[in-house]
Amino acid sequence: MFGKRKIEVNAIQDSDLEEALKKTDQFEDLIEGNIKCRSCNTIITEKNIGVIQPESIGMKLKITFYCEKIDCVDEFKRRLNE
Ligand SMILES: [Zn+2]
Repeated sequence: MFGKRKIEVNAIQDSDLEEALKKTDQFEDLIEGNIKCRSCNTIITEKNIGVIQPESIGMKLKITFYCEKIDCVDEFKRRLNE
């Protein structure tokens, strides 16, 4: 369990993402498969992250994820333009 987890942590190449996730307490969620695409509910992993959108909810920063599917990235763009 620990060994597997370590490999997955190392697989996240983007250190900025890692830092951001740690700030929002979502790093563990990502590693544990608890983060889903806002558009299609696919479980987000370091391999299928399409869009990362930090959002402030009150005083807290929360990151919304979309997977890499074209449809989901389009959904993200639609929401941005609303
Ligand atoms: Zn998706």
